[in-house]
Amino acid sequence: MQQGIEVEEARRLVLEGAAPLPAETVSTADAFGRVLAAPVTSGRTLPPADCSAMDGWAVRADDLAAASGGAPRRLRVAFEVPAGGRAPRALGPGEAARIFTGAALPPGADSIVMQEDAAAEGGEVAFTAAPARGEHVRPAGEDVRAGEEVLPAGTLLGPAQLGVLASLGRSVVRVHRRPRVALLSGGDELIEPDEDPSGGRIVASNAYSLAAQCAEAGALATNLGIARDTREELERGLAAGLTADVLVSSAGVSVGDHDHVRPVLGKLGCRLEFWGVRMKPGYPLVFGRFDDGRGPRVFGLPGNPVSAMVTFELFVRPLLLRLAGRRVLARPVLRAVLGETLRKKPGRAHYVRVTLTRSGGRTLATSTGNQSSGVLRSMALAQGLLVFPAAATELAAGAEAEVLVLDPDVLAAPEPG
Ligand code: AMP
Ligand code: MG
Repeated sequence: MQQGIEVEEARRLVLEGAAPLPAETVSTADAFGRVLAAPVTSGRTLPPADCSAMDGWAVRADDLAAASGGAPRRLRVAFEVPAGGRAPRALGPGEAARIFTGAALPPGADSIVMQEDAAAEGGEVAFTAAPARGEHVRPAGEDVRAGEEVLPAGTLLGPAQLGVLASLGRSVVRVHRRPRVALLSGGDELIEPDEDPSGGRIVASNAYSLAAQCAEAGALATNLGIARDTREELERGLAAGLTADVLVSSAGVSVGDHDHVRPVLGKLGCRLEFWGVRMKPGYPLVFGRFDDGRGPRVFGLPGNPVSAMVTFELFVRPLLLRLAGRRVLARPVLRAVLGETLRKKPGRAHYVRVTLTRSGGRTLATSTGNQSSGVLRSMALAQGLLVFPAAATELAAGAEAEVLVLDPDVLAAPEPG
């Protein structure tokens, strides 16, 4: 087991050998946020035939070549083509067909005139301009051609992709299975939110924050509850999470007399890869895996609420995204101007919780205040994590630094009022 490693090395070890989970078939209606496990090739041409982009008249452009305001051309109304209907016959010279958006052009017609540009009277319709050939016609296959790969494997399914799948007639789709995460909280002092906090007891809030972080990463979290600080109870709790893809426990990873997570994981057959990452908050992070490849990847997060969330953000989240099949594992990074001077000792990277404000094309990063790892409000206020590199000792006010953007809304212009 390695001790006291750099953030980048820890990330590498966590992601090493991690591959997207096997595919499953789900209803397209339930596939929002999932990732395609196989490319989607179209069995259809869309639109299947040349069709009208407007409500109006299907015509032969040659018939109207001489039409003008001074000399309108009249065509005989031959028939009507409703959306989804068919023309009863081909359109002959001197004829126009009433047509609606999405309807296939009758054979013989080559152009559409919008209804606003024509005047129907009796069995005839008058045109005062010559359409360009092909005007307001959606050619067959302009969207998709049969046999074409439309969505590659690895595509994240959002609204447009789901619409495309539906239009191709795919009511079910092959996607990567969602990662299953088991969450365990450890500590004699921990209670549930509706229990009595007197006597120095602390709500096991990590279960709430971490479950939501799992959900945000597209994973399914199960809460295994609270294990007291005995080896037996911790072993029972951790063992209950061994069927998950990822087991995340919080607390009990420091050097206190009641910090049993590491020895108990060892007893369960988990090989610890590292303990201690040179970062703040979050130094005591533990990571391990099972060599037979069958057990979960295991994180022992530090118990402090901010440390638990930040280490989840930096290490658990990218793993969950990878397992879910996502290709982009990182948060967006922007360079922000510091609103104040920050100082620290060299040796550990600090992840400073900041708010972000935009002004004059620049983004200003301001610390959320007390950066203690117990101050969970610093996380609740944070729109980004400013990276204060391990070797650096000072970041001066007005200088630029990298910020991992947690809340992409800050990049948008606020609505007035
Ligand atoms: P530990 O890592 O066990 O030393 O815990 C560090 C601090 O985090 C202590 O103040 C704990 O009470 C607190 N803590 C531990 N587990 C949780 C949890 N699940 N939710 C909130 N705070 C916790
Ligand atoms: Mg503890």
